[in-house]
Amino acid sequence: MASIRELHEQLVKKERSAVEITQEALDRIQALEPKLHSFLHVTAQQALEQARAVDAKIAAGEEIGILAGIPVGIKDNLCTKGILTTCASRILENFVPPYESTVTQKLADAGAVMVGKANLDEFAMGSSTENSAFQVTANPWDLSRVPGGSSGGSAAAVAADECVVALGSDTGGSIRQPASFCGVVGMKPTYGLVSRYGLVAFASSLDQIGPFGRSVEDAAILLNAIAGYDPKDSTSLKVQIPDYASGFKPDLKARGKLRIGVIKETFGEGLDSAVEKAVTKAIDRLQNLGAEIHIVSCPNFRYGVPSYYIIAPSEASANLARYDGVKYGYRAPGADNLLSMYTRTRSSGFGAEVKRRIMIGTYALSAGYYDAYYLKAQKVRTLIKQDFEKAFDQVDVLACPTVPTTAFKAGEKNSDPLSMYLLDLMTIPANLAGLPGLSVPCGFDDKGLPIGLQLIGKVLREDQLFQVAYAYEQSTTWHLQTPQIS
Ligand code: GLN
Repeated sequence: MASIRELHEQLVKKERSAVEITQEALDRIQALEPKLHSFLHVTAQQALEQARAVDAKIAAGEEIGILAGIPVGIKDNLCTKGILTTCASRILENFVPPYESTVTQKLADAGAVMVGKANLDEFAMGSSTENSAFQVTANPWDLSRVPGGSSGGSAAAVAADECVVALGSDTGGSIRQPASFCGVVGMKPTYGLVSRYGLVAFASSLDQIGPFGRSVEDAAILLNAIAGYDPKDSTSLKVQIPDYASGFKPDLKARGKLRIGVIKETFGEGLDSAVEKAVTKAIDRLQNLGAEIHIVSCPNFRYGVPSYYIIAPSEASANLARYDGVKYGYRAPGADNLLSMYTRTRSSGFGAEVKRRIMIGTYALSAGYYDAYYLKAQKVRTLIKQDFEKAFDQVDVLACPTVPTTAFKAGEKNSDPLSMYLLDLMTIPANLAGLPGLSVPCGFDDKGLPIGLQLIGKVLREDQLFQVAYAYEQSTTWHLQTPQIS
């Protein structure tokens, strides 16, 4: 499928209708889903209705916005009024939200066409989308491999052209990591830039919603539509939102000196040689485009994973207390008293990974251990933030691999959760510090699997990340390659 701007032009010139574009996406979904399993539910009827509304506007000579008639995928942890929102969990199997999340409302207002709710790791906990209670999504580049996670359904759907752009959520890397594994652009905005009203909470001090696109520009256009202050989210920032998708320059000289810092600690042990090569080449390319390259040190980065895996489960254990068999969808049968109803519901409603997190979090927050674990982890979080502050005294943007490896085989890491957690090494720090991060395709390994370059920016400098990523992308052809799904 074409880019957002190309499709918009086709619509405005009446070369194609929104219904035709939507139908093309739905046909592709129908053809590929038996292999990919990106979507938990396809919303064909609503999609065609939304498309018809766009066509009616065009026919009446009304002006349409840039996203009108564009097929989008939505991660299934974003509440959609009247449409099943399961979080890929049995415990929400039948949950139909009575309200709409702010981001999906904004997309609907912009005329975007939601084609379906995308698969994810249950409650967004995971790095492979294998923790979904309902299905395992395949990586479009190699169907025997995982698409990454937790927003694996959204990333795979965009990579496979089942929709043009998609929304995901990123608590410790869940947009950037699957973007890297699937060869698309994924961005986690600054904490507070995008309203989380209607996002099912995982770890509230870390969660952010962000865009996936096949190009930097598509991702930027999608962020334009969802960013901005929302009184319904108390963590939402009251700031001016620039136009992220305009004024792109083909090189990095046009706006004065741009300093890019390469994070020393992200290279070395544990890094795939193909990833190291591709990312190093990408950094050389950034230099050729006019950036000044510096080596910076973030010595506390390596404590990101251990502190995150205390903080995130702690917050999750509190957030998930609400699923008790009373307030939402699922209730286990056969209980003869209240306590047994709670325990039966929670033990059969949650999957293994979610239960592991609830146990770790409850333990870390308990009276005797709070200081040793939770408080300590929060202190480490401050140290990581300070690493970033020091680095940003010297440079404007940081660069490193998004993930130390390319996509792994489905099932490969199931028995070893720690090895899965370690994949988040390079994405977690930006969440702990609330900073924006973006993954842009920067090559392939010898198996033909995509590799991602991560760029991390200063608070609210999404514009700078998009500009750097755009100049890089336009100087390469990685983003033009598409997976051949047999
Ligand atoms: N992989 C990380 C986890 O399992 C990140 C998840 C996310 O960003 N939602 O918690």
